[in-house]
Amino acid sequence: MNHNLLDKLQLEYMQLSASVNKLVEALFDANKELAFLYEEKTQRAAELVIANKELAFQNKEKEQRALELIKVNDELRIAATVFESQEGMMVTDANTIILRVNSAFAHINGYSAVEVIGKTPKFLQSGRHDADFYAAMWESIHRTGCWKGEIYNQSKSGDIYPEYLTITAVHDNDGVVTNYVATFTDIRITKSALEEVERLAFYDPLTGLPNRRLLRERLKSVLATNHRNGEHAALLFLDIDHFKILNDTLGHNIGDLLLQQVAQRLSSCVREVDTVARLGGDEFVVLLTELSAETLEAATQADVIGHKILNLLSEPYLLCTQNYLSSSSIGVTVFNNKRQVIDELIKQADIAMYAAKISGRNALRFFDPQMQINLNARVLLEADLRLALAENQFELYYQAQSTHDGRIIGAEALIRWQHPQRGLMFPDAFIPLAEEVGLITAIGQWVLQSACTQLKIWESNTDTQHLQLAVNVSVRQFHQADFVTQV
Ligand code: GH3
Ligand code: MG
Repeated sequence: MNHNLLDKLQLEYMQLSASVNKLVEALFDANKELAFLYEEKTQRAAELVIANKELAFQNKEKEQRALELIKVNDELRIAATVFESQEGMMVTDANTIILRVNSAFAHINGYSAVEVIGKTPKFLQSGRHDADFYAAMWESIHRTGCWKGEIYNQSKSGDIYPEYLTITAVHDNDGVVTNYVATFTDIRITKSALEEVERLAFYDPLTGLPNRRLLRERLKSVLATNHRNGEHAALLFLDIDHFKILNDTLGHNIGDLLLQQVAQRLSSCVREVDTVARLGGDEFVVLLTELSAETLEAATQADVIGHKILNLLSEPYLLCTQNYLSSSSIGVTVFNNKRQVIDELIKQADIAMYAAKISGRNALRFFDPQMQINLNARVLLEADLRLALAENQFELYYQAQSTHDGRIIGAEALIRWQHPQRGLMFPDAFIPLAEEVGLITAIGQWVLQSACTQLKIWESNTDTQHLQLAVNVSVRQFHQADFVTQV
């Protein structure tokens, strides 16, 4: 074999081997780099997975928040709708400074939001409630957190109107008041509707007078009051005489006119505390209250008003163009006992009215016959008393006044009435009546005059000129402005 060829092959092999080694080395390095790169990528991928997870979590949170926001938004929208409801609303801070009002607020009281925000609600006060009312309101809010009730407020135009108001305190988590919320409804319409219902239920539509129902209510409370203070009241049952004839001759409408005018005249005869009611048809009832605690005096008061009514109702009427004369009959019952039954009282007065009709109409009768007798006797006595003054039927009797050893030093003048039919009457039988009807001053003056005349006579006699004379004087006389001059 050729030596040279072998060397050449050997060299080539060595060169090749070196190249292979280099290549292996290069491959090894490349592999190393690849492994490193792989590791780095794996690491990055893991980081990406974590970041992705976090993002997903954040997304979930955002989604949740978005849902919450939608919910809050819904609630706010509902609250805003509620706030703009038919009810007036006002929100204040803890110092009652107005923060917000709704449009119903402005609609009810005429103030716009700009005019009221920053003020306290005091400008709405109507002046119809006293300080105690507001104090009780705040006491309730502080104690229970709420107040509800009817209140009168004043609108911008000055109208005073009723509203149903609810005030609620709003507290924070620590229980401290942060706001007050007031909601109110205008109850003007409701109130007038209620008043109309009441008017229909308790008043007679033709005359506007209370009806039987309201009369019964008033009677009930009068009976309770009388029982407490002993005062009397009287029920006057009145029925127009021959009313049917007017209806039959001039027509029902003209009859209605008379009923209305009778109602007006009756109302003009009584005081604020009394009640005039129409029971129906041509029947009226007058309830007189606060009469005397003394029965006969109360009966006299009722009798006086009853006759005043009879006289007034018999004055001529103008019905359309027709002049008309009418009269009425009245039955009276006087009472002061709580145990009285209301219907029984009306019946008593009705019975007495019937007696007045029987007596010939245009008359007044009492239910209690003894009361009528006593009253008649009293009326007669009063007439007699007036006559007694004119006809000098009084006499003075002198009761001696002496010292302890029997020496007469004077006398007391005592009045007696020498009545032409009843004989000698003592002062207790006529002085109270004289005081009541105002005759006492004239009688008192007569007593003074007579006593002074007697003194003058005693003066001219040496046996009697030292005597003193005592005269009884009524309280009524002391009230006279010229009493001292008279004496
Ligand atoms: P007396 O003197 O006995 O009372 O006779 P009178 O004709 O008044 O008889 P009475 O009181 O019984 O009659 C009442 C009449 O009143 C009967 C009825 O026709 C009439 N009446 C009832 N309600 C009304 C009303 O609302 N308007 C009018 N115009 N008449 C009425
Ligand atoms: Mg009648």
